[in-house]
Amino acid sequence: MKKMRILSGGIQQESHSFNPTVAQRSDFQVTEGASAVEQARGSNSTLGGVVDAAERAGADVIVPTMFRAQSGGPVDDAVYEEVRDRMTEAARGGNFDAIVLPLHGGMLTPTLSDPEGDLFRELRKVVGPEVPITSAFDLHAHVTHDTLVHCDFLAAYLTNPHDDQGETGRRAFEAARRMIEGNFDPVCAAVHVPMLTLGNDRTDEDPLQRIHRCASEAVSRGDVEDVSIFNAQQFLDVANLGQMVLVYGNGENARAATLAKELANMLWEARDQLIGTYPSVESCLDAARQAIGKTRYVLGDQGDRVAAGGPGDSTFILDKLITSYPDLRSLVPIADPNAVQACMASGQGSTLTLTVGGHGCAVSPPITLTGEVLSVGQDASLVVAGPHDAGTLTNIGPYALLKAGNIHVALTERPNAYLDPEYFRAMGAEPTEMDIVVTRSGYHFTLNFADVGRCVTVDTPGMTSYRVEELPFSVARPFYPVDRIDFSPEVRLRRRR
Ligand SMILES: [Zn+2]
Repeated sequence: MKKMRILSGGIQQESHSFNPTVAQRSDFQVTEGASAVEQARGSNSTLGGVVDAAERAGADVIVPTMFRAQSGGPVDDAVYEEVRDRMTEAARGGNFDAIVLPLHGGMLTPTLSDPEGDLFRELRKVVGPEVPITSAFDLHAHVTHDTLVHCDFLAAYLTNPHDDQGETGRRAFEAARRMIEGNFDPVCAAVHVPMLTLGNDRTDEDPLQRIHRCASEAVSRGDVEDVSIFNAQQFLDVANLGQMVLVYGNGENARAATLAKELANMLWEARDQLIGTYPSVESCLDAARQAIGKTRYVLGDQGDRVAAGGPGDSTFILDKLITSYPDLRSLVPIADPNAVQACMASGQGSTLTLTVGGHGCAVSPPITLTGEVLSVGQDASLVVAGPHDAGTLTNIGPYALLKAGNIHVALTERPNAYLDPEYFRAMGAEPTEMDIVVTRSGYHFTLNFADVGRCVTVDTPGMTSYRVEELPFSVARPFYPVDRIDFSPEVRLRRRR
């Protein structure tokens, strides 16, 4: 039998509508061809899951290009167009049996509110209606009309914090394989719910845990083939922002529509429970002071999560450490290109006075401090220890580590989410030697820092704060809880033909 040929790759970034810094090509990690496949193999990434499952099935995976970046502002149009053109060109000449794309699903460009949908549409134009197109999306994707029309099967992560990226890639590949073999005719029941989840939305806690349990039990029983429950990235000012439930049957299956409605109703009924509350910074710093020598605290800066598209330069927690907790050994990341350059010009081992942070983040001003430059570098690479994104090779770009008293400031030119302790270690800072470590994540760091200390996401102001009523949404509204909404689930069925 002829070897299956699978086209994979694409672009992954989660955008924030209100972050004015457009993501450039230099913000992306780009891998291509055989080395992209090699790097992904065995990693807990969606591309890794596609590659591993495809190779187990004896298929060849061709990756023309794979662009990955941290979350941030919308992606420069030229960057998206480069990826789209590479992918469509490959599809044109490739004689592929299927296309399986590992994407985020929550990206924007300055001119496109749905680049993923655009990519599916362009690829569909090239390969026609028969070639299966499937995709693995982040659970925080915004699932659009175009995506549902042109993509035959879509799998979301089932975990938040995310630790099933590889498994999600496998689901997307397996759906394509079964379609190629004529064993799967995906019919999707889709229900949109016009509400946001705002903080109490881990899948290992209720209410999402029981909603996912209801879904997975239906899959285990064989009632339906696959279920995805999308909790859209909250900072997208796009039409139809909200939750999306996708339930796939194999051919016409009334149970798929019934389950999709049931899950949508469960989300709606839990709408107030899905709004979280967080402890104050001071309460955690007080607790950390009490716990010195016993444990350390790893704080997620809720209001400036680079993991959700924030600018990564809030000085809100840094200010509290300087003014009230200078006795704590602390490690705080700040994105600030000028500060990195100042440290480089001054040199490793020198002492200088400089101003850091507070440029992109409107809620906390720049801070001036004097410190010693412990390390500087043009770049440092690292392998994510995981479990989130375990085995992924990445780099931090130009950086400097500054020590002011007990406070260590990890300065980088571009924002980083610090989802993994290895980011700090790459700069020469050891998180386990601190009393307080700050990350720019709200969920995923809790997986990768579990061995470092007690992980707590703290209530801070900023661009990624869940006080969404304070954000200037103009297209996305109305949605709950900002607007009063009446909801009854409407099922949209999507068939291949
Ligand atoms: Zn996500």
